[in-house]
This record gives sequence, structure tokens and C-alpha cells, in this order.
Amino acid sequence: MSKEEIKIPKATLKRLPLYYRFVDTLYNSNVDRVSSKELSEGLQIDSATIRRDFSYFGELGKKGYGYNVSYLLNFFKTTLQQDMITKVAIIGVGNLGTALVNYNFTVSDRMKIAAAFDTNPEVIGRHIGRIEVQDIEHFEEVIKKQDIQIVILTVPGAAAQSLANRVTKAGIKGILNFTPERLTVPSSVHVHHIDLGIELQSLIFFMKNH
Ligand code: ATP
Repeated sequence: MSKEEIKIPKATLKRLPLYYRFVDTLYNSNVDRVSSKELSEGLQIDSATIRRDFSYFGELGKKGYGYNVSYLLNFFKTTLQQDMITKVAIIGVGNLGTALVNYNFTVSDRMKIAAAFDTNPEVIGRHIGRIEVQDIEHFEEVIKKQDIQIVILTVPGAAAQSLANRVTKAGIKGILNFTPERLTVPSSVHVHHIDLGIELQSLIFFMKNH
């Protein structure tokens, strides 16, 4: 079966950045090879899951040898397209939006927040690090000029759907939605929804029940 025919589970794809970050740390500490047991201990993911995840990508390691760190690193880099910079725009520079612009993704130096937009005249023009908050009026023009691929929504829920329509129309294919609103988008657009309230609630549930 060719690689293209295998459907890689979403859960596996979600773990790839974790693998990438860990292997990158090993590489920078001059570690040559790593076993699935060591990966498992370092990442707190059970080794059967790691082996299954890696099996979707063909022969990444050898029995009894483990995995070659620099090979793994190159593999994840290419798979995650780490050699291309992914540019991200934030819409809504309130408390959460400001925090995210400041944070600017330490997981990888290959993705960065390149633009931020708001409607509030008191916020527009403000600098957060190198990023100047721009008027949402200029959204289409800026994302085209800067080749932005992903939008993060940190606006009030009531503004989310109409903004999703607008960014989708402008050609954006990925939205990270921090609003409580469920978004309807064309099937060619991927939306990941992060609801911090629900995450916290589910953590409390697990703490009580396990
Ligand atoms: P949070 O802590 O959730 O970021 P906040 O209280 O700082 O919230 P919100 O009312 O949630 O602020 O709004 C977040 C930001 O989104 C504000 O700066 C607001 O001006 C901006 N905003 C609201 N509607 C739009 C819109 N349609 N387009 C762009 N920005 C918007």
C-alpha cells in the first residue's frame, strides 16, 4: 500500500509536533539514537502508541536499535513542513489575543504570528513586540501581501461566524477558534476549536473520576 492510501488518524497527527519538539531537543543535546521506551518516558505517551504512530510512516526505526535521532528529526521536519514558515494572523487583540501574540509559539521557529487585527480604535496601532495591531478593514490586503495561511480567532463569540465567513472568502484554509462559537465553514477549510472552559472542566472531571 502506498503512503498516500494510508489514512493517518487525527490523534497521530496531533502528536507529531510533540515528537518533533522532543526529537529536536535530543538532537540539540547530541543524542544519536533513542528507543521507543525513552521516547515514551520523555513524552509520557505509552510506547505502544508511539510505535503505532510511527508505523504509519514506514520503517523509521530498527528492532533492537531504536530510532536514529537525526533521521527522525529530518522526517518530522519534512512531514510537518517545518522547512516552510507558516504565517499566522490573530483577529481580536483583547486579553487572550495579546497573550498569544506575546507567546508566539515556542513549539517551532517555523511558524509565527505575522499580523494582528482588531476593530477597536484604541487597540489599532498598538505594538505588541514587533507586531502592530492593524484595522480589520485591511485584512484581505495584508494577508495577501504577507502570505498568511492561518487565522486565530480571539474575538467575542458573536463576531466569530461572520469573521469566519470573511477569512474563508479571503482564501484562508485553517482557523484556530478560541471563541465558544461553533463555526460553519466550507469543507476545504479546517477549524480547530479550543475552548479553555471545556478543557478545564474535562480536567476537573478526570481528576474526580480517575
Ligand atoms: P478576551 O480576554 O477574551 O480576549 P477581552 O475582554 O479582552 O476578551 P473581547 O470582548 O473578548 O475582549 O474582545 C476581544 C477583542 O476582539 C477586542 O479587542 C475587540 O475589540 C476585538 N473584536 C471584537 N469584534 C471584532 C471584530 N469583528 N473584528 C476584529 N476584532 C474584533
